[in-house]
Amino acid sequence: MKGTVHYENRGEIALLSIDNPPVNPLSSGVRQGLYDGVDQALRDDSIKAMVITGLHRAFIAGADISEFGAAGSEAVGLGEVLTRMEQSTKPIIAAINGTAFGGGLEVALCCDYRIAAVTAPVGLPEVKLGLLPGAGGTQRLPRLIGVEAAIKAIVSGDPILAPQALELGIVDKVTDQDIVSEGIAFAAEIVDAGAKTRKIRDLSDKINEGGDYQSVFTAAAEGLKKTHRNQFAPSQILKCIEAAAMSDDFDEGLAVEQKLFAECLGHPQREALIHIFFAERAANKIPDLDRDVPLLPIAKGSVIGAGTMGGGIAMCFANAGIPVRLHDNDAENLARGIKVIEGNYARTVSRGRLSQDEMDSRMELIIPTENFDDLGDADVVIEAVYENLDLKKEIFAKLDKIMKPGAILATNTSGLDVDAIAAETSRPEFVCGMHFFSPANVMRLLEVVRGNSSSPVVLGTAMALGKKLGKVSVVAGNCPGFIGNRMLGGYRRQADLMSLQGASPAQIDKVIFDFGLAMGPFAMADMVGLDLGWRARKMMGGSNEVTARVPDELCELGRFGQKNGKGYYRYEAGDRTPYPDAEADEVIKRVSESLGYTRANFSDDEILKRCMYPLVNIGAKLLEEGHALRAGDIDTVYVNGYGFPACIGGPMWFADSNGLDNVLADIERFYEETGDDVWKPAELLKKLVAEGKNFASLDA
Ligand code: NAD
Repeated sequence: MKGTVHYENRGEIALLSIDNPPVNPLSSGVRQGLYDGVDQALRDDSIKAMVITGLHRAFIAGADISEFGAAGSEAVGLGEVLTRMEQSTKPIIAAINGTAFGGGLEVALCCDYRIAAVTAPVGLPEVKLGLLPGAGGTQRLPRLIGVEAAIKAIVSGDPILAPQALELGIVDKVTDQDIVSEGIAFAAEIVDAGAKTRKIRDLSDKINEGGDYQSVFTAAAEGLKKTHRNQFAPSQILKCIEAAAMSDDFDEGLAVEQKLFAECLGHPQREALIHIFFAERAANKIPDLDRDVPLLPIAKGSVIGAGTMGGGIAMCFANAGIPVRLHDNDAENLARGIKVIEGNYARTVSRGRLSQDEMDSRMELIIPTENFDDLGDADVVIEAVYENLDLKKEIFAKLDKIMKPGAILATNTSGLDVDAIAAETSRPEFVCGMHFFSPANVMRLLEVVRGNSSSPVVLGTAMALGKKLGKVSVVAGNCPGFIGNRMLGGYRRQADLMSLQGASPAQIDKVIFDFGLAMGPFAMADMVGLDLGWRARKMMGGSNEVTARVPDELCELGRFGQKNGKGYYRYEAGDRTPYPDAEADEVIKRVSESLGYTRANFSDDEILKRCMYPLVNIGAKLLEEGHALRAGDIDTVYVNGYGFPACIGGPMWFADSNGLDNVLADIERFYEETGDDVWKPAELLKKLVAEGKNFASLDA
């Protein structure tokens, strides 16, 4: 059995120390050890109270994910352990030394009292894996801290730091002293005061103080539509807490929790979320990088270009405590860039999420400079100037001359040829892409682009830097658009074509929104600004691409998108809601007719497939070419960089869920109907279907 619990007598107090390094998950040995320890303490007349604590850095970090889906173990189940604890006639004190998440906090909630180290986070994050706390958490937490606070904590699943946990009433005391001595002393006080137990199941003050619960639950359900659209587990959590609030019978509530937990367990969203959880971790591994090879040290950064991306990237460095020089060759843009950064931090301060001191020290880490030569002593430089290959080549040739030996030279290009850029230097092995997403200080995704010559150590260091900057990093091969933008091109093009063939932007956008993305392709285009592409095409002498015709004509009519209140849609002042607009619809119809399209009706299902399956087919091509290493990497890119709903698991997981044979049949039909290159079925897709396999099997 994995893990153990040490038992020690400290006078009248029994000390139970959980030992399952590094984070003490509730594996079989821990469960059995807790059960036996409580039993032993109860049988020993000299013992008056118990203290449970964790060795190593956690109290109990949660369930043991490695035991998920494993055959039933010999050890007692968590439910039995908790019942034993709750029936204890001797008080139990949880001495929360470190992380107490999920089942870990549920163990603590079955103790009579809780004290926590000031640095310890607690929380019930099950929702993030499509589950709910299934060991009484949804019943005990509202009894302990009230219904509204419990809804917030369990639905968000976010960690709660000890001082806040004290304010909420989750713990009774917070200490910065040795937690074990404090726990024993706390237990001794309880014993001196009569060794009273205090079972959360019997508490009623907090849960009864709320009054009109119906309106609380109605408002919470409304809120979920915004914060957790289409997600199964959060609404199940509400039902559990409702059961706790509506009945005095604790066991009845527990039974509801058990039933709804089982429903979550069997729900496809749970599998999808677990898939993404593991895919994000797997994405970190670079196959040809030996674990023992030391990575390059990164103590200083440089960023070139103080625009939208450069400013956000500089913030990432400052947030991670790494000093960074920010260079722009245009003094005005540099000053504006710094102002934008300041404004961003100031907003965070005004929302109470950052102190003024922290803001000041972060601003101090960002050193603006107009002098290119100042960049040379950094360990990594990230170029984020305009998306123009010649300009980037010129900059890399100059960087080659000034950067110190061993520095990483990275480009934030959205899809240009990293090898062509690297070829301008005498050290292409030190060149790679580090493709951040906008806003760079917020978006979690980082594509680390591997050029032909990029060395594994350089890639490994870029990935490790990504982690330090709080990103989920994925290795992408050097092809136009890399993973994410190359796939997006196919999605976007199908949406444009369907609008020419008879579907309205509003219908297409609604299908995509209902599927779970934040917005559809046309609302997105209006948000980004139609004029950007229009101006770029004009600079290149115009485009013959059929899909450029509508945005070009809209721009000729002065319809640039949200920025001036009209694009594919119409917008009212101060409101970002898109309203369909006759003039824009007329443009689409006119272009469509002039191009000779026959306009037809589209079902929502057809629209969804036409938008999503290019992602799948291009994704399969990326895999067969080796430009993506794993299907899970592609899903990680889409969930973290493109707002693809995590509860659907990413485009490749979505394809697996629909059955790859069905997906291939649709793709073949689209290819026959349109002859469009994007629909030429990927060889890998055909092979998988022929072998009866799916994308997930490639990563297994
Ligand atoms: P931007 O126009 O906001 O900023 C570019 C900045 O680069 C400007 O401040 C400009 O003065 C500066 N610059 C231009 N030439 C320079 C030079 N020779 N030396 C120093 N500074 C110079 O552009 P952006 O949106 O931040 O995009 C930058 C890069 O990031 C592009 O390659 C783009 O494709 C990529 N990117 C953009 C996004 C996005 O959503 N905006 C997302 C991912 C990647």
